[in-house]
Amino acid sequence: MTNSQNFILRVNSKLAEHFGKPKRKLDSKPLDILIATILSQNTNDRNSHKAYLSLRSKYPNWSDMEKATVNQIAKTIRSAGLSQQKAKTIKQLLLTLKTKKPKFSLDYLYEFSNEQIISELTSISGIGVKTASCVLLFGMQRNVCPVDTHVFRTLNRIGVVNKRTAEKTFYALNEILPKLIAHQFHTNLIMLGRTICKPQKPICTECPLLDLCTYKDKNPTSPLAFKARTVNDFLLLDVV
Ligand code: SF4
Repeated sequence: MTNSQNFILRVNSKLAEHFGKPKRKLDSKPLDILIATILSQNTNDRNSHKAYLSLRSKYPNWSDMEKATVNQIAKTIRSAGLSQQKAKTIKQLLLTLKTKKPKFSLDYLYEFSNEQIISELTSISGIGVKTASCVLLFGMQRNVCPVDTHVFRTLNRIGVVNKRTAEKTFYALNEILPKLIAHQFHTNLIMLGRTICKPQKPICTECPLLDLCTYKDKNPTSPLAFKARTVNDFLLLDVV
């Protein structure tokens, strides 16, 4: 075990003490997760969940969407925003999966390595590394930690990595990520980013990582100065 891995384990354990062990759904299908993640780009989990449910209600099997036009798909997913763009990506994905065995499924990926899966999925226009890594974690239970805006900000502030982009952070982190912690680590970093380590004025005096964190611009303001907060703990990919 390296020093960096020990540090990650200490951070993970402090976060678990504070936020608890997140619930996990273990029977999600990779294609469901991929479509939900496409819908979640640039919007919040509640809007994308609404769009996901609307899509599932109109097309109970993904193959039912084969003959749908981009406009028809876009109309169904309007609540997620960027609906034309997302509909195009979903349509392109379905055209690709029509040629696979079995059709309209990502099950053929189970034999692939993580790197091969990322390469395969990101070859489809509109699907990036973050989306592909969500399929690995939530749809295939691989020990991979996706890096969204919250995970990127918190990991770099804490000092787990020192990278300028989310993608570089993803590769640096996952090279050293200890086994079996990806889901808990990812989820609790999102909770930390949503509630305490916010983009502006992180609430460092209330943070469970105060003693471990290496961020040089910690905010010394007392939490009493902050307005009462409601915690949004809804996570789309744990309900799909
Ligand atoms: S101490 Fe402050 S900067 Fe560091 S993780 Fe906590 S809230 Fe973020």
